[in-house]
Amino acid sequence: MDEMISLGIEGTAHTIGVGLVKNTKHHCDVLSNEMKTFRPEKGGIHPRKAANHHAQHIASLIEKAITTADITKDKIDLVSFSKGPGLGPCLRTAATAARALSLSLNKPIIGVNHCVAHIEIGRGTIPDCTDPVLLYTSGANTQVIAFANRKYRVFGETLDIGIGNCLDKFGRSIDIPFPSGPHIEQYALKGKNYLSLPYSVKGMDIAFSGLLTAAQQYYQNNNAIEDICYSIQETTFAALTEVTERAMAQLGKDEVLLGGGVAANQRLRNMVDTMAKERDARFFVPTKYLCVDNGAMIAWLGLIMYQSGMRMTLADTTIDQRFRTDMVDVIWRE
Ligand code: AMP
Ligand code: MG
Repeated sequence: MDEMISLGIEGTAHTIGVGLVKNTKHHCDVLSNEMKTFRPEKGGIHPRKAANHHAQHIASLIEKAITTADITKDKIDLVSFSKGPGLGPCLRTAATAARALSLSLNKPIIGVNHCVAHIEIGRGTIPDCTDPVLLYTSGANTQVIAFANRKYRVFGETLDIGIGNCLDKFGRSIDIPFPSGPHIEQYALKGKNYLSLPYSVKGMDIAFSGLLTAAQQYYQNNNAIEDICYSIQETTFAALTEVTERAMAQLGKDEVLLGGGVAANQRLRNMVDTMAKERDARFFVPTKYLCVDNGAMIAWLGLIMYQSGMRMTLADTTIDQRFRTDMVDVIWRE
């Protein structure tokens, strides 16, 4: 692999991020990883408002990422961006910035799949992580992904909302600020009583909305918020761990990798780590700023795709709101 520097722009949802990475052999060196997150004062993420936020910050983030990486613009060999899945207006903003940058630098451009980027950044930055099952838990996405037959295939996923979205929606209904996940984690530490909640594992898939409604009812019936948060975590994380373990068993894989914002949760980490230990598997989680939505992971996936021979014309750089993980031909792996 020749050494090259890739600049990546992430913009699928609430976060606009710009990262620069360099490859040293097959390892990913993160040179910089700047980001800004849109936080609505009230309610969920309005796609156009988030896109306006991204448009406002993208130029300064690019400058900042280049300054932090301590390089000059002419050292950038490739521009990558998140082609999908995500919110249309946000994706379009990031793609437009990437196209403009690629044209002005006269460097190639590659649009990448956001979910695949979450797995590749783990493989790229954690030396022992080579063929993991990824438990990808973010706001909008919840998937169990692994490599099989030249694709990253989805072995299980949410049938309704993402786990992060479930936590945030519960938080919103009881006036916990967004993002609610970290607050729920703190409350859960003080929970003592487990309240029974729907445990919806359907084959390899999971559903959260019934559990969300039941949790909201516990709140209306004056149960302690600490107990509810504790019970939400225990139930949802157990379901995620169960499906992940089954994927590992069926595929015969002995590595598990966490990704997505919810991977910051210590209880989820402990549960998955325990499961891994019990089956003699290894547990990995990237550093926090590579777990959340970020530009460095987009830069890295663009780089390895480019080095495997992938090329895109400007006409190929349209966005795809429903770009599924298993639509990508993984030509860079055996
Ligand atoms: P992402 O979409 O991958 O950037 O992740 C954002 C999601 O992660 C939001 O739904 C947050 O509530 C959630 N999150 C962040 N930190 C934690 C945490 N410590 N525990 C649970 N969820 C978290
Ligand atoms: Mg994500």
